[in-house]
Amino acid sequence: MNNLGPNKDFARRLIAWQKRHGRHDLPWQKQHDPYRVWLAEIMLQQTQVATVIPYYRRFLARFPGLAGLAAAPQEEVMALWSGLGYYARARNLQRAAQTIVARHGGRFPRRIEDIEQLPGIGRSTAAAVAVFAFGARAAILDGNVKRVLARVFGIDGFPGEKALENRLWALAESLLPARDIEAYTQGLMDLGATLCSRRQPRCGDCPFAAQCVALRDGRIAELPTPRAPRAVPQRAVRVLVLLNRGSVLLERRPPQGIWGGLLSLPELPEGALPRRYAGAQPLPVVRHAFTHFRLDIAPLAAKVSRRDTAPDGVWLSLKRLDAAPLPAPIRKILESL
Ligand code: SF4
Repeated sequence: MNNLGPNKDFARRLIAWQKRHGRHDLPWQKQHDPYRVWLAEIMLQQTQVATVIPYYRRFLARFPGLAGLAAAPQEEVMALWSGLGYYARARNLQRAAQTIVARHGGRFPRRIEDIEQLPGIGRSTAAAVAVFAFGARAAILDGNVKRVLARVFGIDGFPGEKALENRLWALAESLLPARDIEAYTQGLMDLGATLCSRRQPRCGDCPFAAQCVALRDGRIAELPTPRAPRAVPQRAVRVLVLLNRGSVLLERRPPQGIWGGLLSLPELPEGALPRRYAGAQPLPVVRHAFTHFRLDIAPLAAKVSRRDTAPDGVWLSLKRLDAAPLPAPIRKILESL
């Protein structure tokens, strides 16, 4: 599958690269206060470093410690988060601080299992906090890391799918180095954020350029595999093609919704065919694809007198279809007459 050799090569290359080329001067680095590490990790979820830095500084200036955050009015916490987005993070942050005060005597828990129990903290964030605050030897696996692993090791499949995610966790754990866990973890983050970006990875600068399966096989755009498109729902509708002396009866669609404001054929409600159309002639079904569903349109043609039809209908000569505001599949049906 790849020629990376023993897994320790992965860690060795990554650590060497991080030490030379990774990020070392971020405001939450070079210290081990779990509160600060945790705050940074939460702010960095879905958010770029450059955006986070001023928020991180402002937040710490107002709440330098966990107890102050736990006791603050929620509006004040939200105001400091305002503009950073994903506000559930701020609410969970404060709830987690309150939980730490209530359950752990105000001391940030050291065990990953306990960290993971806190509101707003998943397995990967718990591991990152444990690594940077306590030097724990634990694996992270956020979206960036999944992308790097899928590409370097040429792993197919959507990484959000449970079975594959479990495999990636096992791989991430097997790659952990015996030493330098901080540089290694930071290296994974830095590589995913600065080199192995989703659209334009800078493979020329990458420590894995010689081993990366995606690069070797020209599959960077395919890996990681995107989520499979959802099955498109199928709907069906019957429409009436009511004809009178070379004209067809149309209805104007309501302004909102599908084909809003256009002229279309009258729809038949679901259920048995009304007796007056018992002799109607079925025409070939026309299939039309919308963004969110597929519609099968089954036309039934009948000759009628104008007196028998609804007064709000619009009679259109079949010779004047060109200028009429018709949806494409309805035009197709009428042009086939
Ligand atoms: S070689 Fe390119 S695609 Fe492969 S891990 Fe490095 S940056 Fe990503």
